[in-house]
Amino acid sequence: MTEYGVCTKCGLTVFAGQNDCPSCGAETMPEPDASLIEEWHEKREGVCIGCGKTGRVRRLVKAKDYNGKTKIPEFRCYECSLNKLDEIRARGVPV
Ligand SMILES: [Zn+2]
Ligand SMILES: [Zn+2]
Repeated sequence: MTEYGVCTKCGLTVFAGQNDCPSCGAETMPEPDASLIEEWHEKREGVCIGCGKTGRVRRLVKAKDYNGKTKIPEFRCYECSLNKLDEIRARGVPV
């Protein structure tokens, strides 16, 4: 049960159950659970440690039950990061 919602127009945080924003009157929606949000660290220019490709690379920093902040940064290209996600999921981490 979320305690707060957020205005879809101005982004104001409102109490749950408030269907209209007190500031602009726009609709509100429940605020997403922050622990469910994936956090990616992306570099425009980097080398993928999976396939060695250069270009835009990223690494998963944080997801539910996953914290990559404590690990050595491993940047991967988009395809390799998807493969890595499968690997993490296979270990039972819901990302
Ligand atoms: Zn608003
Ligand atoms: Zn790659």
